[in-house]
Amino acid sequence: MAPLYFDHNATGPPRPEVLERALPLFTELWGNPSSGHALGRRPAAEVDNAREMVAAWAGARPRDVVFTSGATEANHLALRGGLAARPGRLLVSSVEHPSILEPGELLGAELLPVDSNGRVRLDIAEERLAAGASLVSVQAANNETGVLQPLAELATLAHAAGALLHVDAAQVPGRMDAPSEWDLLTLTGHKAGGFKGVGALVLRPDLKLVPQQLGGSQERNRRAGTVNTGPIVALGEVCRLGAVPGLLALRQRLEEGAKALGALVTGAQAPRLPNTVHLRFPGVPGDSLVMALDGLGVCASAGAACASGAAKASPVLLAMGLPATEGVRLSMGWNSRVSDVEQVLAALGEALRRHRAAEELFA
Ligand code: PLP
Repeated sequence: MAPLYFDHNATGPPRPEVLERALPLFTELWGNPSSGHALGRRPAAEVDNAREMVAAWAGARPRDVVFTSGATEANHLALRGGLAARPGRLLVSSVEHPSILEPGELLGAELLPVDSNGRVRLDIAEERLAAGASLVSVQAANNETGVLQPLAELATLAHAAGALLHVDAAQVPGRMDAPSEWDLLTLTGHKAGGFKGVGALVLRPDLKLVPQQLGGSQERNRRAGTVNTGPIVALGEVCRLGAVPGLLALRQRLEEGAKALGALVTGAQAPRLPNTVHLRFPGVPGDSLVMALDGLGVCASAGAACASGAAKASPVLLAMGLPATEGVRLSMGWNSRVSDVEQVLAALGEALRRHRAAEELFA
C-alpha cells in the first residue's frame, strides 16, 4: 500500500492539472524565452502568462514578479538585495525559516521574539522599531506549526519606523489567499502541487533591489540565469488554481481525534494554516513517534532531525518556550482525504500504544 502522505509542508506531489499545463515546456516548447527567434516566442508567452497568474495571486503588477530558484533564493534576494539598496537595521522574527535566519545572522539581523502561540510580540516589535529600521522580515505562516503572523499590525509598525516589510509566504499557496500586507513577498509552489526549484519574489511598484545573481539581463536585470520555463508555468498554474477547498474540515477532524489521544495542539490560540497540525504528546519524543508512524505507513515530520537521526531541538518550539523535542507535524494537501485522516489517527493511536509498551518494558 502507498504510504499515507502527511508531509505537504516539506513538499508534495505535483497536481495532475499542473503537470499537464507544464509538460509542453519540456517537449515541443523547450526553447529559450530570451531568444529573439521563433522557438523562443511561445515559451516566452507561456512565461508571461505565468507571471500574470503569480501577480494576480499576489495582488501585484506582472512586471514586479521576479522568478527565482525557490523561496530560499527569493528570501536571500529580499534580505541581501533589499538591504544593499537601502542600508540600515534588519529585524526578523525568531521563528523564521533558516533561509531567513542564516543570511539574517550574517547581515546582523536582530530577532523579534514570539509569544507561546508563536505570534510576534507586537509590543516588543514596536519598542525595537522605535529606533528606526530599513527592513523587517516576518513569515506569513510557520512551516512547523502553521501559525499565521499579524501582518497588518506589523506592516503598520514597520512603515511607521520607515522600514519595508518582507513576508515569506512559502507555505501559503494552495492553502489560503495571498497576504495583502507586504512590500516584498516570497512564494514557492512545490508544497502545493507545483515543481521544486522555482519560486518568486514579488515587489511593490518601484521598489529597488540590488541583484544578487549577475551575468544576464533576465527578470528585468534583477535575477540573471536562463529562465526555468516549465517549473515557472507550473508555479503560475498553482497560483491560478488557488486554495484547495476542504482543508480546514480535515484539520479540525485531525485535531479533534488527536486531542482524544492526549495531544496538545501547538499554537491552538492562534490563527493557523488550514492544512497544518502540530501536535505534542507530553513526555513522548516527536522523532520516535515519527519513526513509529513511518513503520505504520505514515509520512510525517518531527520538524528538524540532525544527520545522526537523533532528536534535535526545534528552534521554533524553543522560541515559543515549549518543550523542543516533542513535536509531530502532520500537513495535508490537494490529495488528502477524510479517510486518510481516519487512518492516520488509527496509526497515531497504535504508535502511542507501542511507545508506552516499550517504556514499560524498559522502566
Ligand atoms: N520559507 C519557508 C517558510 C519554508 O517553509 C520553506 C520550505 O520549507 C522555504 C522558505 C524554502 O523554500 P524552497 O524549498 O522553495 O527554497
